[in-house]
Amino acid sequence: MELTILGSGQPLPEVDRGGAAITADLGGDRVLVDCGPKAVHRLLEQGVDITAIEDVFFTHHHVDHNASFLYFAVISWYVGRTDLTVYGPRGTESLVDGIESIYDQTVESWTQWSNLVGETTPKAGIDDVETVHVDPDFEHDADGWSVSALAVSHDTEIFDPRAYRFEEHETGRSFVFSGDTAAIPEMADFAAGADVLVHEANALGPDETLLPKTEIPDQYLEPPFEKYYESYFDDDSAEGVERHHTAAPEAADLAADAGVDALVLSHLNCYRDVAQVREQAEARFDGEVLVAEDGLTLSRA
Ligand SMILES: [Zn+2]
Repeated sequence: MELTILGSGQPLPEVDRGGAAITADLGGDRVLVDCGPKAVHRLLEQGVDITAIEDVFFTHHHVDHNASFLYFAVISWYVGRTDLTVYGPRGTESLVDGIESIYDQTVESWTQWSNLVGETTPKAGIDDVETVHVDPDFEHDADGWSVSALAVSHDTEIFDPRAYRFEEHETGRSFVFSGDTAAIPEMADFAAGADVLVHEANALGPDETLLPKTEIPDQYLEPPFEKYYESYFDDDSAEGVERHHTAAPEAADLAADAGVDALVLSHLNCYRDVAQVREQAEARFDGEVLVAEDGLTLSRA
């Protein structure tokens, strides 16, 4: 099993962090979980063959988790992908419908004049994309791997969001991706014994401080993004984040309860002191703690 964090960021567009996206090699298959901004280019940076991705999973449909999907779907078909199944909760079908409702002209045009789409059925892989609705008790078995879902807590009335657990059959290796969620006790059971737990740590911990302004790139302290920085000092905004997201110490407690080997903290931004984020988690979890950055890869043979 090889797992790569393609995007470790959050909604604020950042030069160094893409939106949420993870890819994994599982039993020789290549899966993608979430497809936030920059995901397609990050796949190329990792040397991943985008035509080999035939299974895409969504945790929920905030834009920082799905903005690159339509580009991925169309461009991977254009260069040769012929199958695609998209799994996700509420909103997934609408997103997949966007292929036809937004890009029917692109598909029609490239089908007619490109020799790249080729194969025997030119539109295979783009006009027959399958959508699978992911219920809370969702389980799916592929040849070399399996996946299950967990209902998580993140603006739940709107999104009905999910976390995923993937298991590689041959090696018995596994990883869990929390997606976006407040800390929920069910995560500890869901992630029990996993090799890797990739958990969001978007909320500021109670004893955590932001980076000094001198260490934050100027553009993120100026309009329009200064409001985002200032929201950290606004009680209502901070409370909203706490209600829908997890702080690093909480993620560490879940990792400890689950008994995972490694915890990867993700969904971060340029205001956060990543050394402090790591220390706060290490104080409560004895396993390996990694702070995600785009391109971080973990292999478990
Ligand atoms: Zn979200």
